[in-house]
Amino acid sequence: MSMPSDTDRKPALFGSGDTGFDVNRIKADFPILRQKVNGHRLVYLDSAASSQKPQAVIDALDRYYSQINANIHRGLHTLSEKATAAYENTREHSARFIGGVKPEEIIFTNGATEAINLVASSWGGQNIGEGDEIVITEMEHHANLVPWVILAQRKKAVVKRIPLTPDGQLDLTDIENIVTPRTKLVAVGHMSNVLGTINPVQRLAELAHKNGALILADGAQAAPHMPVDVKQLGVDFYTFSAHKMLGPTGVGVLWARQELLEAMPPYNTGGEMIREVSFETVTWADVPHKFEAGTPNIAGVVAFHEALSYLEAIGMDKIREHAIALTGYAIDSLLKLDRLEIQGPLDPTLRGGAISFTDADIHPHDLSTFLDSRGIAIRAGHHCAQPLMRALGKVATARASLYVYNDEADIDALVDAIKQVRSYFGV
Ligand code: PLP
Repeated sequence: MSMPSDTDRKPALFGSGDTGFDVNRIKADFPILRQKVNGHRLVYLDSAASSQKPQAVIDALDRYYSQINANIHRGLHTLSEKATAAYENTREHSARFIGGVKPEEIIFTNGATEAINLVASSWGGQNIGEGDEIVITEMEHHANLVPWVILAQRKKAVVKRIPLTPDGQLDLTDIENIVTPRTKLVAVGHMSNVLGTINPVQRLAELAHKNGALILADGAQAAPHMPVDVKQLGVDFYTFSAHKMLGPTGVGVLWARQELLEAMPPYNTGGEMIREVSFETVTWADVPHKFEAGTPNIAGVVAFHEALSYLEAIGMDKIREHAIALTGYAIDSLLKLDRLEIQGPLDPTLRGGAISFTDADIHPHDLSTFLDSRGIAIRAGHHCAQPLMRALGKVATARASLYVYNDEADIDALVDAIKQVRSYFGV
């Protein structure tokens, strides 16, 4: 049994039978982009923080609540069975999306942050001991940094870090002395939310395994923007967030190999995750349910299916091609402005479309506020990566981040507005 679906309804970009990448047609699928902000066309360049949602995802939420809403897995009535089928359908879809893994290996969380905390608490609690080493990188988002620092404090373990090259890639010159037989886990962002850098996860996975360690890749920025095959990457854990890839907020995914998940203790406890409960003992349900205590974000998970369908209808290869072309255009356009510095690699094939930059004369917060007055949404600050900011010698950067609904006109609007703010500040 499954809920009535819009899956067969192709996104508008395929409306005329053409399978090309047409940003104007994609834009038309995103109702929020039709509005004016502060009297100007909305130019949304903050997708690394959270992406916008196509009509198909909005409709799926509406349809879930107006036709299906019921709690899952334990009801014997029709609505509960429909809700369960729709929820489990997204589990199967998520498993296909990251390279065809087993659906049982997909755990729904409330975001990438919770997925990483689950691994730190459950696997880390069981497997990290005094003197063990956890290797992270200097460019990690706090979500893939704080859980390891706290775990290391709790277990008297050590957090080591892979440093960066001047152009914002991982400096692997000394890697054999960083990842060693003392390493228990390597935790690395697949793509940086600040530098855009795509990290050599496959190489790090080989190195981790050679040393008897496991590897977690934080795919919060990568999964929305490129094809991901976790088996090809060779990782043990992979995490991502639905809201950064056209889906609803409050849904995250943890993937791990079934035998790993089976050996790990539960994270949250309560309803849904048990097999037998008495006042003396509790036994757990099988994976994935062992890790999904309580009522999950059913509506969000159900609608995430439509987001994945939308991305697949465009094609993840095409999405990556678009990102390379538009990132290249944005970097070239921004670098035409003097006294403007871009962090991270300048070659668009080495990176994604999260483009951080600083203007020598204007604070990123002033820049962001001014751009907002022109309808342009960017982000300014430390981007939840304070150690990286310190390594870059910055207190903050401005960040424009691109997605499927952005085009060259959006970049031109950004560059024009930066010119205007410069003349406004008299620089
Ligand atoms: N990892 C990276 C690289 C991110 O950019 C983010 C969010 O910005 C996260 C993890 C955390 O994702 P969420 O806030 O959806 O849990």
